[in-house]
Amino acid sequence: MKSWDVIVIGGGIIGLSLAIELRKNGASVLVVERGEPGREASHAAGGMLVECSLETPKALQALAAASAQMYPEFVHELQVESGLRVDLRDQGTIVFSPAEHVHQRPGFTLEDLLKLLPAPLAELEPALADFKQPAFYLKERSVDPRGLTAAALGAAKHRGVDISSGEEVTAVNLSNGRACGIATKKTSYLAAKIVNCAGAWSGQIAPQAFPTRPVKGQMLCLLSPSRGLVKHVLRSPEVYVIPRSDGRILVGATVEEAGFDKRTDVATIQRLRRAAIALVPALRDAKILEDWAGLRPGTPDALPILGATSTPGYYVATGHFRDGILLAPITARVMAQVIEEKIPDFNPDAFSPARFPC
Ligand SMILES: Cc1cc2nc3c(=O)[nH]c(=O)nc-3n(C[C@H](O)[C@H](O)[C@H](O)COP(=O)(O)OP(=O)(O)OC[C@H]3O[C@@H](n4cnc5c(N)ncnc54)[C@H](O)[C@@H]3O)c2cc1C
Repeated sequence: MKSWDVIVIGGGIIGLSLAIELRKNGASVLVVERGEPGREASHAAGGMLVECSLETPKALQALAAASAQMYPEFVHELQVESGLRVDLRDQGTIVFSPAEHVHQRPGFTLEDLLKLLPAPLAELEPALADFKQPAFYLKERSVDPRGLTAAALGAAKHRGVDISSGEEVTAVNLSNGRACGIATKKTSYLAAKIVNCAGAWSGQIAPQAFPTRPVKGQMLCLLSPSRGLVKHVLRSPEVYVIPRSDGRILVGATVEEAGFDKRTDVATIQRLRRAAIALVPALRDAKILEDWAGLRPGTPDALPILGATSTPGYYVATGHFRDGILLAPITARVMAQVIEEKIPDFNPDAFSPARFPC
């Protein structure tokens, strides 16, 4: 029976990025995906690469900053290896949120913040409503997660990662207390090492019930009435607006505890749309192309779960909550180093699965 060095459970951006990294270093890798790769949270995301916001836990900031730095090279490699273009934008973010001002720039007055804008707001983003609210500028990037995941899948295949789609993993198989493979609903596969990258579903695979939970986010996509109408990512306490280079504009997102329910509701989508129009009045004429909901992998302390589990040969990389697109490059690098038993570039102890009894 064929066996692999590593089996990755879950073909979202985390599983695919890790599979590529392991393969680059010479391992044979099989990704086993319940549905189609990249169609869950990684498909639903907005793609802001937020290094530090009010919602970013302090313990995550250094990891987030390290990952943000890796992004241009990460995307470049995926594009070259897949032959697909990924929309990575670096126009930056304009934030309208007094609480976030205080958080980002303690001690700054509103006048100081306005001075940080690289140009007057009306020049930076002419389509903005005539706001009296103070704004500030962050040098953040954004990426199209669907294009990114498609490129990661293409790059994984190009590198010779095996992918099995439409197969649900039910358990990690053990031999003498060590992981030795996985059982799916149809069959079983052998590998010396297994990594659980099953996102919001990570806790459902025996023998370890990691405390991940789904945190629903509803979003919509508008077709801009004119290309380049919005240039920057815009963030206010009510809504965020993310422009893509092809004229689409994403508007998001809710943060809901709704179990595994992925339905959208009209009232919520309309509320998000109205909040976007309040920021950019010309969006009133924008057609809604699509709305959707996705399930972020949440954890009790809002930090990812990364590292070796208490079962020898079994690893986990999950719980990336609102930042999994941002954190994919650093997660892939650090987890590959842990799995290869090297000293990781970034100490992942703060994210150890040992902090949860399961
Ligand atoms: C609305 C919304 C907006 C977001 N915006 C951003 C953002 O702006 N920036 C950012 O960085 N992050 C954002 N996120 C978060 C980001 O999408 C996630 O953190 C990230 O996609 C998690 O990736 P993942 O690979 O762990 O999970 P997923 O993409 O969900 O992948 C997990 C995969 O595992 C598979 N799977 C599950 N169970 C099994 C099983 N038993 N057997 C086999 N396969 C299985 C699933 O089918 C799925 O394909 C957002 C998320 C949402 C929902």
